[in-house]
Amino acid sequence: MAAEIIDGKKIAAEIQAELKQRISKLGEKGINPKLVTLLVGEDPASLSYLRGITRTCGEVGVVTEPVKLPQDVAQSALIEKINELNRDVKVHGILLFLPLPKHLNALEAESAISPQKDVDGTNPISAGKLLLGEETFFPSTPYGVMELLMRSGHNPEGKHVVIVGRSNIVGKPLAGMFIQKQKGANATVTVCHTGTKNLEEITKQADILVAAIGKAKAITADMVREGTVVADVGVNFIPDPATGKNKQVGDVDFEAVKEKAAAITPVPGGTGAVTSMMLMVNTIKAAEILNK
Ligand code: NAP
Repeated sequence: MAAEIIDGKKIAAEIQAELKQRISKLGEKGINPKLVTLLVGEDPASLSYLRGITRTCGEVGVVTEPVKLPQDVAQSALIEKINELNRDVKVHGILLFLPLPKHLNALEAESAISPQKDVDGTNPISAGKLLLGEETFFPSTPYGVMELLMRSGHNPEGKHVVIVGRSNIVGKPLAGMFIQKQKGANATVTVCHTGTKNLEEITKQADILVAAIGKAKAITADMVREGTVVADVGVNFIPDPATGKNKQVGDVDFEAVKEKAAAITPVPGGTGAVTSMMLMVNTIKAAEILNK
């Protein structure tokens, strides 16, 4: 039986509608939630993400200011810019695009972002709090996966969640979120990576399978059990013979896996559609906390 297709755009619109009231409450106090994006150089994936964030900010009513620093910027100048944004009371959220050019120290830069403005949860303090189950900002991509599952009726509680991928921005924080003894979590979590033996045996045990691998169609139908819920985080571009151009695909072989899964997120229009909305949620939350 073909799977239920989890509509990320619809869920993002639902979240956006819920933010309206919070934005107008802030507006009544003269506060306009503001997100500053900090981009070093011209990384094409970051530029594309920046365009998406700028569009979402405009739709939601979050003020955004893109700050661009040259590719050869010194570490000290990057840290000074972050400190300046930390001090600016009109700025509520700071998003630093990764990867940074090789000469820069990303961990030091992430650590410099004030935890109160760390709306993508990359500061080690935010990451530590996440793991401890303390109140913090969840990184927007795993936060989006959690919201997608909850809002489409696939609560991970008590389920076996298998995550393929252990990056610091997706796999690890998602695992940390799902193991908490909290609402929307409380799952049994297995994390797989390139060191995992017999990957297929493990993915087949999943009630919920999350793919965050970065390889087009790496999860094939024979790796998925009938009735699994599949969340595809991957964003890959492969040639499309029909158009002669590149097309966007996920880490899951969507067409084949949807015949076995109970529910599945498409790419595009699945997890990616919710990611930038979660950044809005975090920026508004930061503005509320900073102005309490
Ligand atoms: P990443 O840093 O490259 O990490 C990929 C992970 O997948 C690594 O942990 C790697 O294992 C694992 N892996 C790679 N090949 C594997 C294989 N054959 N079997 C098992 N594990 C394998 O990637 P990322 O930043 O997490 O991103 C993952 C995907 O999500 C990418 O397509 C990216 O574009 C996309 N993404 C989407 C969003 C969104 O908003 N939707 C946001 C961020 C990223 P090792 O650790 O052993 O190397």
